[in-house]
Amino acid sequence: MSKVNRGINPDEWRGIFVIAEQRSGQIQPISIEMLGEAKKLAGKLKDDVTVIVLGDDMDESLNDLCGYGADKIIYCKHAKLKTYTTDAYTKVLADLIAERKPEIVIVGATAIGRDLAPRLAARVGTGLTADCTGLDIGEERMALMTRPAFGGNLMATIVCKENRPQMATVRPGVMEKAVHTDTVCKVEKIQPEISDADIIAKVTDVVLQKRERPPLSEADIIVAGGRGVKNPEGFELLQSLADKLGGVVGSSRAPVDSGWISPDAQIGQTGTTVRPKLYIACGISGAIQHLAGMSESQTIVAINKDPNAPIHKVAHYSIVGDLFKIIPALIQSIEEKEPK
Ligand code: FAD
Repeated sequence: MSKVNRGINPDEWRGIFVIAEQRSGQIQPISIEMLGEAKKLAGKLKDDVTVIVLGDDMDESLNDLCGYGADKIIYCKHAKLKTYTTDAYTKVLADLIAERKPEIVIVGATAIGRDLAPRLAARVGTGLTADCTGLDIGEERMALMTRPAFGGNLMATIVCKENRPQMATVRPGVMEKAVHTDTVCKVEKIQPEISDADIIAKVTDVVLQKRERPPLSEADIIVAGGRGVKNPEGFELLQSLADKLGGVVGSSRAPVDSGWISPDAQIGQTGTTVRPKLYIACGISGAIQHLAGMSESQTIVAINKDPNAPIHKVAHYSIVGDLFKIIPALIQSIEEKEPK
């Protein structure tokens, strides 16, 4: 029985658990982002970060994961954990939380994490702040979990006063990744008990979807278009610029709603969060819901014919003018500099 939150003493709960995500045995980037954030929190709490990895045949990936600065890795190894299932992962993690009593548990707000975290929180009898874009530590070691609320028009900071652990899912692409060094860390391997009766829903097959484009969350250069791009042909122009720069095309919500580009290109509050080295916003006004997904980009270039468009306020370089004149001129100037 994993229900642990009856008459708890918060002082018994210590340390931060980062629930790593693996797919086909590969540790996913969100795990490194969570680890980066967890280390900052641990610094404030003067406590340890433990990364929890569930899987089978994960030994090689763990060597690399060690270098990202966790104090410890707990590797729950079992054939039934090779592929994610809600039932098996919830059971193993709930048992581990009940036994080790972490003060904070962080899960990625990915498709897997969004499925797992609410079930896990309910199983251990605590609350969950979903889809956080910021985490911090407040008075009395309280985790301050911040997420957009009311359609992104305000940011709500939520605390979990009565229960432990304090649980949050965090948006991919928002937190800064931990830096890899040559450090080593402790690895504790455990073989959890999982019976057939623990798993109600069985995964019979995993079908990998072919992506139209590389994931936006991993792109260094993004050329994003908005309603100002006008039609699908406008996005072909953006694609030409992206190809010249070695980048990926993204979108605000308006073109997605109009069917000019597929939904996986959407950047913003209800799309992907990105922080590329270069973000070129073309014909995007800069609504708060769009800014929520891209304002952490290293360099932002805005191309917009309206000098008062809000996007110019977050842009490092603003080009006020018609994108259908400016983008071909940019492409031409890149071509002139290309080796003949
Ligand atoms: P517009 O606001 O219409 O702006 C078009 C811009 O193009 C204008 O600034 C115009 O000056 C410029 N322009 C026009 N023609 C040209 C030209 N030839 N050359 C140069 N510039 C030109 N939006 C998102 O993007 N992502 C989200 O995840 C998201 N989530 C949302 C969630 C909720 C709950 C809600 C309520 C809204 C959400 N939105 C989201 C929608 C958001 O509020 C805006 O409606 C949307 O971002 C506007 O898209 P846009 O900037 O492309 O279009």
